[in-house]
Amino acid sequence: MNDFELACKVVLVGDSTVGKSSILSRYVNNLYSSSNVSTIGVDFHLKNINIDGRIIRLQIWDTAGQERFRSLTQGFYRGAQGICLVFDVTREDTFQRLGNWVKEIENFAKDCVVYLIGNKIDLDAKRMVSKETAEQFAKSYNLKYFESSAKDDTGMSLFESLTRDMLRKRN
Ligand code: GDP
Repeated sequence: MNDFELACKVVLVGDSTVGKSSILSRYVNNLYSSSNVSTIGVDFHLKNINIDGRIIRLQIWDTAGQERFRSLTQGFYRGAQGICLVFDVTREDTFQRLGNWVKEIENFAKDCVVYLIGNKIDLDAKRMVSKETAEQFAKSYNLKYFESSAKDDTGMSLFESLTRDMLRKRN
């Protein structure tokens, strides 16, 4: 019997320093570093995920820092089937700017499965955006909401859920 193998492109977007690279590094390599070193030039990471016996190859793209200077280019989104839009629950400004990101996604990547991710939930004492507020925003744009901590390894099941939703959308 042939194994059914499929590749899906996922992109991580959101303001600088919200933890996109850290989420990727936690999910793909199970590593976390508290130093803020940009991974300039790294385009994507590969991770195979088993969904009910089907091996799906996730190609997960990080922005490599371009989001600091301008919005991302259409090329970054090309071919993407899934998008993780990340903000930092301890920084209200990263939540306020989500609307701009949603507009960019609507322009460049209309038919993707989009998840909203509130990261850094380990920093509970510094939290500025409540789960309820974020859930309400997500609901108004028809996005699924997940919370994560790359530091504590919380919420990484979002990738399995995202993959299942991408597969459903293809079928
Ligand atoms: P990016 O610019 O969005 O890729 O953000 P980075 O992954 O480079 O993270 C920016 C900073 O936030 C780094 O110092 C990380 O160590 C820190 N960081 C990322 N995720 C978390 C988290 O879940 N909890 C905490 N406490 N810090 C985090």
